[in-house]
Amino acid sequence: MRILVTGGAGFIGSHLIDRLMAQGHEVLCLDNFYTGTKRNIIQWLDNPNFELIRHDVTEPIRLEVDQVYHLACPASPVHYQFNPVKTIKTNVMGTLYMLGLAKRVGARFLLASTSEVYGDPDVHPQPESYRGNVNTIGPRACYDEGKRVAETLAFEYYREHKVDIRVARIFNTYGPRMLENDGRVVSNFIVQALQGKPLTVFGDGSQTRSFCYVSDLVEGLMRLMNGDYIGPVNLGNPGEYTILQLAEKIQTAINPDAELIYQPLPEDDPKQRQPDITLAKNYLNWQPTIPLDQGLAMTIEDFKSRHQE
Ligand code: NAD
Ligand code: UDP
Repeated sequence: MRILVTGGAGFIGSHLIDRLMAQGHEVLCLDNFYTGTKRNIIQWLDNPNFELIRHDVTEPIRLEVDQVYHLACPASPVHYQFNPVKTIKTNVMGTLYMLGLAKRVGARFLLASTSEVYGDPDVHPQPESYRGNVNTIGPRACYDEGKRVAETLAFEYYREHKVDIRVARIFNTYGPRMLENDGRVVSNFIVQALQGKPLTVFGDGSQTRSFCYVSDLVEGLMRLMNGDYIGPVNLGNPGEYTILQLAEKIQTAINPDAELIYQPLPEDDPKQRQPDITLAKNYLNWQPTIPLDQGLAMTIEDFKSRHQE
């Protein structure tokens, strides 16, 4: 098949492309390199089945493909809050144009939505039926509300134009290739510990997240794309940890003497987050296989190898 991956030079997109290329597909990687890098896809640049398109999804484009994985959007709060209006445009205009493309050529379209549609949840763990608790005017809204509109667009293109959609709600994902300056908690703690700097815990560290290793996540995305279930479906690892527990794991793995420093909790930071993955288990026969300790060890090795270059 000929498959378009928007945001393909980013963290999750590049791992997805590795799997698609290994399966023998023709892959078009579309990216504006805001948080993505050529380094992530360099192994494919000379491959005749691979094509790199530098393009911003906030502009229309015509391409002929069978499937679209729509991942283009910065995912770390640091990056998506740097230019919030652009983040909204990326989610709204970008998703609109990619759905338009899918409609024109009859391609199947998968949206990478997010657990952030649940906001700071008052239901725990979060099932797909939970409608969420997002502050529409807060600093995270450009991303959270952007993704909520993206989901709405996908479902309206499905109902009105019969576009064959899939919607994944991705929970915190980590692994090799996260940028050193990504700004998310796993990469921050690993880079800080490797550089002998204190680990920056925001708030008192009692807030929780559930961390999914990237290969598990990519498997879930591919099962969703190639199955019959439309979604939305949660994809994440139900193993839930406080940020302090995560800091301790990374201290143990890299430097038991690494200090912790406490910094203010960002506004609207969700207090707890854990996916209910009953639907993914039932409809996709999917669940994560890599426990946090093992995934962290593989991620730390990747950061170490980059440090040595
Ligand atoms: P990432 O920042 O590494 O990748 C995003 C990619 O999109 C980058 O390559 C970036 O350059 C590209 N991009 C951004 N804006 C663009 C634009 N306007 N036009 C073209 N390309 C653009 O992030 P990621 O972690 O790989 O996330 C991929 C997708 O998964 C995103 O849509 C994100 O919202 C979603 N997601 C990720 C997580 C996670 O924990 N990693 C959780 C929930 C949802
Ligand atoms: N966090 C932290 N130190 C950091 C970066 C993040 O304590 O250096 C916290 C952050 O406040 C949040 C959690 O870790 O409670 C996860 O943050 P991240 O930005 O990785 O993802 P998100 O908040 O979008 O789930």
